[in-house]
Amino acid sequence: MTDAVFEEEDLLPISAIQHLAFCPRQCALIHLDQIWEENRLTAEGQLLHERTHERGRELREDVLIVRALRLRSLELGLIGQADVVEFHRCRGDEPSGITLPGRQGRWRPFPVEYKRGQPKTDLIDEVQLCCQALCLEEMLGAAVADGQIFYGVGRRRSDVVFTATLRDRTKELAGALHHLIDARTIPAPSFSPKCKSCSLADRCLPQIVGGRKSATAYLVAAFEREHTEEGDT
Ligand code: SF4
Repeated sequence: MTDAVFEEEDLLPISAIQHLAFCPRQCALIHLDQIWEENRLTAEGQLLHERTHERGRELREDVLIVRALRLRSLELGLIGQADVVEFHRCRGDEPSGITLPGRQGRWRPFPVEYKRGQPKTDLIDEVQLCCQALCLEEMLGAAVADGQIFYGVGRRRSDVVFTATLRDRTKELAGALHHLIDARTIPAPSFSPKCKSCSLADRCLPQIVGGRKSATAYLVAAFEREHTEEGDT
């Protein structure tokens, strides 16, 4: 790892990486304008995460399971929480691993992320897990080679290897996220099929505003909508 480049007050949530990859406008609305619309998808995801975050830690044979572990990377400028980090006890012939307070032997960190749906065609779930791996590497000073994502649909775990390509993509998105937030500008909407599943579609109004592509048009449309909802003509 290189020297830290971000201060504590500049850290951004790991979850924002997923928002950015889905849509830069959604990311800016959530993290610059603090807008969050609960929809069925976010509500179900929240439930799954709440269950995951309920418990603390437990030892199952040679695996120590730690839930809701706080994560941070000053190099990436990210902060967040891991659903689960498993620490696998290293066997005698394994050179890696770290020591843990009150535990004998060496342990290999292994992040596990819980997702409501099923594997996606893009790499964003893997990128989010890779963020966690890079945070763990920086915090623990240990290599994190792989992890897993648990998908609610099918209830199965999918293996993720933190390759150089995945690490580069993760760092690239973290840099783009800081660029977006530092610019303090909300990108114009771009209407696409994914808008149908977007939790902010009612606020964003991509079909109304997208053609005009200006911040002024967005504000006018949002203003008009608020007055309509209030019964103001
Ligand atoms: S409705 Fe579409 S353009 Fe607007 S924030 Fe969501 S995904 Fe982006």
